[in-house]
Amino acid sequence: MQEALLLADETEPPSPLSLRQVPDQTIYNLPFFVENPQSTAFRKQFFPKTSLTQWNDWRWQLRNRITDISQLERFIRLSADEQEALRGERGGLPMSITPYYASLLRADDPTQPVRRTVVPTCGEYLCSPGEQQDPLSEDSHSPVPGLIHRYPDRVLFLVTDFCSNYCRYCTRSRLVGRDRHQHFNMNQWKKAIAYIAGNPVVRDVLLSGGDPLTLPDDKLEWLLGELHRIPHVEMLRIGTKVPVVLPQRVTPALVAMLRRFHPLWISIHVTHPDELTPETTQACERLADAGIPLGSQTVLLAGINDSVATMTSLYQGLVRRRVKPYYLYQCDPILGSAHFRTPVSKGLEIYQGLRGHTTGYAVPTYVIDAPGGGGKIPLLPETVVGRDQDNLLLKNYEGRIFRYPDVIKGYN
Ligand code: SF4
Repeated sequence: MQEALLLADETEPPSPLSLRQVPDQTIYNLPFFVENPQSTAFRKQFFPKTSLTQWNDWRWQLRNRITDISQLERFIRLSADEQEALRGERGGLPMSITPYYASLLRADDPTQPVRRTVVPTCGEYLCSPGEQQDPLSEDSHSPVPGLIHRYPDRVLFLVTDFCSNYCRYCTRSRLVGRDRHQHFNMNQWKKAIAYIAGNPVVRDVLLSGGDPLTLPDDKLEWLLGELHRIPHVEMLRIGTKVPVVLPQRVTPALVAMLRRFHPLWISIHVTHPDELTPETTQACERLADAGIPLGSQTVLLAGINDSVATMTSLYQGLVRRRVKPYYLYQCDPILGSAHFRTPVSKGLEIYQGLRGHTTGYAVPTYVIDAPGGGGKIPLLPETVVGRDQDNLLLKNYEGRIFRYPDVIKGYN
């Protein structure tokens, strides 16, 4: 009965009620998506014939993605740099922006952080020393196409090359958005599943891509079902940006399906506090209420989120939404990424500005994914600063030194 109701929810008309007006209902059961005022104004201005029901249909959002300069110019005033980048498109990562995400962009500000993450600029065409197409050497750790087996007990399964939005700093820009559907066919999936089934060391499978949550429910369900029934696969994970760029995709029907495959974890790719809208809040609530542990992944980006204040706001906002900040990534040196990359010292400064100054749950692990395939290497400011006889000298978050008696009699 409950499932039938949930499945019917997608066809229910949206309600104008705000979340605060219905405190006695869990968000999981709500048949509508709350729309933030900025998106409402945008929809009414640029899509006057589109109802809220259509806008809240994730398939409508995908059908109406903004993919070229003539569409984008309707919504924002492009800078000369953006125009040149879009007109001189050289076959690299295409542009794609959902109307929902476009509604978050400021029309007159090319420096706006979220705008910079999705609108191409000419910096993408400048290659700098040390940059590579596949800096993490994923392709050389791939026993079957679409599967990366780098660490002992887990694999990364690239299940699609499609995303609703293409992030201009995407580590997999060599793979995604090319319409080759390289990994999106049953044959590739079956080979990857057979590899996992034949390797009992694999206890953890991370679905990524592209964005797995852009797959239709039935395909995702099939895939999760096949993996879930492999006895040695102890957990499944999905890496996705959908709750942020296409929150309408997190329907009650999707959530009802996902919760059948526990233990299932979801890592949400989040970049900036401006992305934490009521829609994203509702998507996170639905997932969390289904018992899905949520973590976040954020790439450190120059001029976008490279300050303690921005990151504090982002991480505290995520914790309020029951998302544990998981990884802060140093930006990978993909081709044309210099305008996005910061020095490592900036990441350490941000880490230092978080640790001790806010709840530990709001502090992610800062990592470099080592070029050449070395895997994630955590970076930490120095806290063990020396020894004084039997005492270890430790530096706290305020820079003060403390002694810890580091000798225990009888311990070998
Ligand atoms: S959502 Fe992920 S895979 Fe897709 S473009 Fe962004 S970083 Fe790349």
